[in-house]
Amino acid sequence: MERILVSQCLLGMPVRYDGGAHGPFDLLQQWRREGRVVSVCPEVAGGLPTPRPPAEIPTGQGGEVLAGKLPVVTIEGVDVTAAFVAGAEQALRLVHEHGIRFAVLKARSPSCGNRETYDGSFSGVRIAGEGVTAAALRLAGVQVFNETELAQLNQLLSAQRR
Ligand code: SF4
Repeated sequence: MERILVSQCLLGMPVRYDGGAHGPFDLLQQWRREGRVVSVCPEVAGGLPTPRPPAEIPTGQGGEVLAGKLPVVTIEGVDVTAAFVAGAEQALRLVHEHGIRFAVLKARSPSCGNRETYDGSFSGVRIAGEGVTAAALRLAGVQVFNETELAQLNQLLSAQRR
């Protein structure tokens, strides 16, 4: 069975930086019942507490963080790069352990965002980019979707069933 890596906050688990969660999402619940879901919160897996101060990547490029060229910094100015990279490594470990090819990660997060992140100014400015874990998964060949793209992934899974 095709397993899917899913951001824990999209499954209703209160792991967001502010202690919140998202959902429920019907397709995620269905995939969970089918036993497809492997969940992770990279920031918690990387050792950060909940709640925690919001963090952003200046210029929003998670791949550059992985390359050691950009930090991840909290709104208080604390460098949390190491925890974000450790969380991405934990997600990659799950990918390899379960042979995962697809992920559903929370949009715009500095860890999980797959198409956009924030620009590092903590003023709500979105920028084309990706989070640290999303970049690590993409570089490992995983197709990363967000919570607005569940129907697309469902189509792919349905095509495989035929
Ligand atoms: Fe954790 Fe990712 Fe959700 Fe942030 S967006 S709370 S890192 S799972």
